[in-house]
Amino acid sequence: MPKIKALVIVAHADDETMWMGGTLMQLKNKYNWTICCVTQSKKNKAGKMFMNVCREVYGAKPVLLNCCSLREHEVTRKLAKFDHKIVFTHNAMGETYHPRHIRVHDIVKAMRFEKLITFWPYSGARKDLADISIDLTETEKRLKLEIMSRYPLSHSDFEQVRKIIKNRNTERFLIPENKKDSMLYKFYTTQLTDHGFVTRDF
Ligand SMILES: [Zn+2]
Repeated sequence: MPKIKALVIVAHADDETMWMGGTLMQLKNKYNWTICCVTQSKKNKAGKMFMNVCREVYGAKPVLLNCCSLREHEVTRKLAKFDHKIVFTHNAMGETYHPRHIRVHDIVKAMRFEKLITFWPYSGARKDLADISIDLTETEKRLKLEIMSRYPLSHSDFEQVRKIIKNRNTERFLIPENKKDSMLYKFYTTQLTDHGFVTRDF
């Protein structure tokens, strides 16, 4: 039987590793993976590294959409060619309230893929609200951190995010249809403000 097709849609080259690198390593052979980076072009170092990491570490097909301005109709048109059953992307809070993560989430969610799964917030979230938890082995964790450290800086808060992620042995996910993310959202807003992150501009 052919493997189920799973698609990862991220804003930047490095998000795939930061939010689900260990999961991709573990489920490498279980699904037929495509990893799609929305804002990246092939021309710079991050884009080239993304292509290599996806192919060599995750055994996935990499796709770079090069939609830097994140116009909805353009991104939607390019993503419409994917008929994947499972789609992973940023959560409603953009993990760190990163505006581009939130934008990608909003566009992807509006496309109503069959099964949408979103990343776990950067910090402070109640673990019992997670719908999926994947425990990483030491080897997976080490490789993930090594890849993250080799990527050029894509987030101004990258160093801080990395410090938190370094101590994580588990990657967690939310299934938005379960609607636990609204509870998480309220709780999380306070946590992020305490950490000095910008809040979402509505
Ligand atoms: Zn990002």
